[in-house]
Parts: sequence; C-alpha cells; structure tokens
Amino acid sequence: MATIIVFQLVWLKKVYRLEEKEFNHNIVKTVRGLYEDLEINSYNSAHLNELIENTSPNLYLANIPLPIDKDSLISYLQYELEDNGVFTNCLLGVYSADSSRYIYTQLMASAGVKNAASFSLPDSKSSYDHIALYFPNRHQYILGEMNFWIISSVVLLIVLILLAGSLFYFYRQKFVNETQRDFIHSFTHEFKTPVAVISLAAEVLKNPAIAEKPDKLLTYAGIVEYQSAYLQSQVEKLLRFAYTEPNQLHLNKEKVNLHILIQEAVNNLGPLIDERKAIVHYDLLAKDPVLTADKDYLIIVITNLLDNAIKYARQPVVTISTSSKGAALILSVEDNGIGIEKDQVKNIFKKFFRVRNGETYTAKGFGIGLSFVKMIVDAHKGKIKVESRYGKGSCFAIELPV
Ligand code: ADP
Repeated sequence: MATIIVFQLVWLKKVYRLEEKEFNHNIVKTVRGLYEDLEINSYNSAHLNELIENTSPNLYLANIPLPIDKDSLISYLQYELEDNGVFTNCLLGVYSADSSRYIYTQLMASAGVKNAASFSLPDSKSSYDHIALYFPNRHQYILGEMNFWIISSVVLLIVLILLAGSLFYFYRQKFVNETQRDFIHSFTHEFKTPVAVISLAAEVLKNPAIAEKPDKLLTYAGIVEYQSAYLQSQVEKLLRFAYTEPNQLHLNKEKVNLHILIQEAVNNLGPLIDERKAIVHYDLLAKDPVLTADKDYLIIVITNLLDNAIKYARQPVVTISTSSKGAALILSVEDNGIGIEKDQVKNIFKKFFRVRNGETYTAKGFGIGLSFVKMIVDAHKGKIKVESRYGKGSCFAIELPV
C-alpha cells in the first residue's frame, strides 16, 4: 500500500510538471500570436524562446519594441490568452528600459475568476523594453487543471484505506476464529477425560456383583465424586472468569496484607506444587505490605500467576517478590519456564488466547486466567507488566496503588 501511495505521489508530481510545461507552452503560443497580431518583425519562430524570459515561475518577460498602442495590445493579448486556453488572472505590465519602470499595468481577470484583487508586478531591472505577463494564480490554476488526477488519487486513497480496514478486520476475525477453535480444543480436552472416567465408573457400578465388594464400590463412588467435583470447579471457573465483563466486577475493598494473601495463594496451590515438585522462593521486601483491595479477587490474581509459573515450566522454580514503590506495592512472580515468544506477549491477556505450541498444550487451561487477572488489576487501577525470554522464563509484575 505504501508503494502504491508513493507511486501515486510520484505520478501526481509528474502530471504537475506536465501541466506546467503545457502552461509554459501556451504562454509561448500566446506571445507568438501577439507578435503576429502586432506585426512585430523582430519575431521569427526560431528564436522565439530567446525573446521570452521566464524569470520566476509566475512571470514571463517578452521582448517588445516600444512604443506600442495600449488598447490594441490589451485586446490582442486578451484574445490570444483565451485562444490558447490560458484562463487565469494575468497582470500585464509594459516596461520601458529608458525610464526603467513599468509605464502601465493592466489586470486581465479571466472569466469566472472573481478574485481580481490588486496584484502588483515584481520589480524588474531589465535593460530592454518588454511586456511582463504575471500570473499570480498560476499554481492554483495548474492544480485546477489536474482535478481529474487529484480526485482519482483521493478515490484510490479511500479505496486503499477501506482495503486496509478490511484486511485489519479480516486478520482480527482470523485471530478470533483461531482462538475460538483453540478454546473448543482445550474445552473438549479438559472435559473429555473426567466424563470418560465417570462413565467407566458408572459402568462398573451398574454391575450387581459390585454390591458384594463394598471396598470397590467405595473406590468407584469416590472416583465419580472426585471427577464430578473437578468438572464442577472447571465449569465454575469458566463461568466466573470467562463471562464476567469488566463492568460486572464489583470490588469489596478492605485493608489486606499482601504477604498473607501470597501465603494463602501458595496454600491453595499446595497439591499442584507437590505434584510438580515446584520450588518456591520468597523475596518479600515490601516494608508495609498493607493495601486497600478486594481480597478474594487479589487471591485469584496471585493464584493464577503462580499456577501459570508452575504449569509452564519443566522443573518449576518460582520466585515471589514484593516491594514498595511510592504509594504502590509491587508483586512479581518469576519463573524458569518455557517463556513466551515476543510476538505472542501482546496476546496473552486476550480472552481464550493460548500460545500455540506443543508445550502449552500439554498444560491444562482455557486461556482465560490472564485476561481475568488483567481485568482485576485494571479494576484496582493497577498495572501489569510481563517480561519474558523464550526458553528461559517469564516474570509477571503487578503494581497496585496502596
Ligand atoms: P491458560 O494458562 O489457561 O492457558 P492464561 O490466560 O493464564 O491461560 O495464559 C494465556 C497463555 O499465556 C497461556 O496459554 C500460555 O501460553 C501463556 N503463559 C501464561 N503464563 C505463562 C508463563 N508463566 N510462562 C509461559 N507462558 C505463559
């Protein structure tokens, strides 16, 4: 698109130059006609160009021997200008070399040009008698002649903008579609196993012989209970995280101690920490870790960050740190995990987005944790930042106003 725009500009400039040439040509033709009309013999078409001087873009000086009849000069000039298609204001000046000044000037306002305001001729220090043709609106006139090209360029520009808009829309839609497909993929994976386990257990429980083995009965009933509780918690998580809109987040703010919340979050994740044999380091340096915030939501934030730090690492070593920064507290969760590629970082806070690579897919999730975390942090007027090195680890830092 940039190339097309650049070409179009170059093209427009070329057309402008052509129109300029055409204008010059018309002036030369006008002067030639004038010489013929006035029967000036010094003119011969071969050296016509030498008799006309173009001292500045708008000013043409044509060598003419004086004296000359004013009325016939004006009427011939008017006629020649029109005949050669020069329809713009022209200020005529007749210069006498003897008196070193314009002996008279006359504005020839072209038809349809209302602005016949007083124009003045630029000073001339010529050593010969001449007539000066000054076109004050030459630039606008040439642009006017280029109307078709300018309008077509604007139309092209509009078409390009619309095209860019549709491309942007198309890519956004593609992103949404892919994210949606990934979500359905995660969703089925997350739910398929528990449902399969429950139906298998039901199959076993239907067998009348099981009544004689109360131990087995209890085990299978336990499996059903565990799996359905898991399913329920996942459904709740989905409903709570995915379908909450920012304006539906009602904060119950109270004074909370960030360090205690961190401990609660770590406790919540006890089973996962044990299962993944994760090592958790603490670097809690905030002097006064108390802030006004919604305790339940803040625990969700910390839990989600810790959960990700453990999920997306092979042998998780997580460092939780806090510090004070003016009237704000900073909490950061650093891991030694798989990291996030640079071009993906901007997407991870979008709802249902999951990085598409094998390692992410082995970890469970719906791609809603971080979008919810961001929503909560925003609701607290805080900031969230992520620094990640692909293959090395990530660090999520949250700044919350006290
Ligand atoms: P989920 O973990 O359920 O997929 P999140 O919203 O919590 O959803 O995270 C979105 C994506 O960001 C994850 O799928 C993962 O690819 C990436 N991600 C988040 N945290 C980390 C991390 N600590 N290390 C590497 N990748 C991460």
